[in-house]
Amino acid sequence: MIIQYITNIDPNSLFIVNAISLAAFSIAFFCIWLKQRDRIYWLYWVAANFILALGFTAFVIIDRTQMLQLIIVNGFMVIGIALRWQALRSFFYRKNYIEVNIVILLVLLVPYSVSSYVSNKFIFGFVNLLFLAEIVLIIRELVRPNGEVLPSRWGLVIAYSIVGVGFVARVVQGIIGPQNMTLLPNDGLLTVLLLAISVHIVASGAFAISLAYERGISELKQMTLLDPLTELYNRRAFELALAGQRPDLGSLTLILLDIDHFKRVNDDYGHEAGDVALRRCANILTTIFRKKDVVARIGGEEFAVILPDTTLREAYEFAERARKAVENDAFEHGGNIVRLTISAGVCQTVAGVTSLSDITKKADVSLYMAKNKGRNRVEIFAV
Ligand code: GH3
Ligand code: MG
Ligand code: MG
Repeated sequence: MIIQYITNIDPNSLFIVNAISLAAFSIAFFCIWLKQRDRIYWLYWVAANFILALGFTAFVIIDRTQMLQLIIVNGFMVIGIALRWQALRSFFYRKNYIEVNIVILLVLLVPYSVSSYVSNKFIFGFVNLLFLAEIVLIIRELVRPNGEVLPSRWGLVIAYSIVGVGFVARVVQGIIGPQNMTLLPNDGLLTVLLLAISVHIVASGAFAISLAYERGISELKQMTLLDPLTELYNRRAFELALAGQRPDLGSLTLILLDIDHFKRVNDDYGHEAGDVALRRCANILTTIFRKKDVVARIGGEEFAVILPDTTLREAYEFAERARKAVENDAFEHGGNIVRLTISAGVCQTVAGVTSLSDITKKADVSLYMAKNKGRNRVEIFAV
């Protein structure tokens, strides 16, 4: 009974409903773009949905038995889906290939240009195969890992898979269908496909928005963990990272670094020179330490580095390299040559003994020793 009910739905109504939904999402994406003009992918989504809305409206207006009219409307559909693919590539910071879209559009023209030699069912199957290829391209963008945790991408994968399955069914229909098939058979499968597309439009629109929302939230979180001057982690991030370590395993080392007589740099050359010096120090630390190390600016001119799976000796050598690099990094500012030195304290956890607060205190003690012994040196906390 349900099947009969579904197949009785007038496809034209579904074309129109889909066109309206697409237009609504197009407007919604445009509103988001107004507030996020640097995110060009919103415009791709606006254009994609607008063109698809035009395509769906056109299906109702045209004579669906006329070859040329169908070519044009299918062209709208192909471009609309291609723009969604571009939107996702742009969202994931991937290069956009407009030329692929042009190739897809040209491929669409092939079966039509040889239409006197091939059957309607071949053209029908071919066009749906092209749509399917575009959907596969889109799903590929979504499933390729990019280091971001964005659960909504799986919502989009499902939304695109739904229409993908619909297009597979159409391709099969193109292969096994009757010889005298029209160019767009007005059958029950058309209605089912249009219903699946209705679900897809709403789901893909909603998940596209939630995908961007998820990224927005993680960007905000990231911002609360970064120091704006040096772009290193801030004190909060350092504390969180330290709390996530396992001091009981005994392979964790910590280095505290403090610029020597930094007050004088500010006094002699100005606060701006001080800021430049801080940024240069930060750059030196980022180049010297490894990806797995957590480098943070934990105070005005104080830095801390967490070194997981590192021996005391290795950590000492890293700190020495940093000290020498800062010493050799004289720079010119406002006609003056600014020279800096740093002192550092290094400490390692002792398995089963050192707590996280201990290790910070001990590193602090060794830093204090380095300062006392004349600065520009690295001291180890002797356990
Ligand atoms: P010491 O060798 O004992 O570490 O001496 P110091 O002068 O480096 O230490 P002190 O803690 O007395 O001074 C730190 C100075 O760092 C004071 C403050 O003006 C400066 N400072 C803190 N944050 C910033 C900043 O963001 N920019 C600049 N330019 N200066 C800063
Ligand atoms: Mg200092
Ligand atoms: Mg200090």
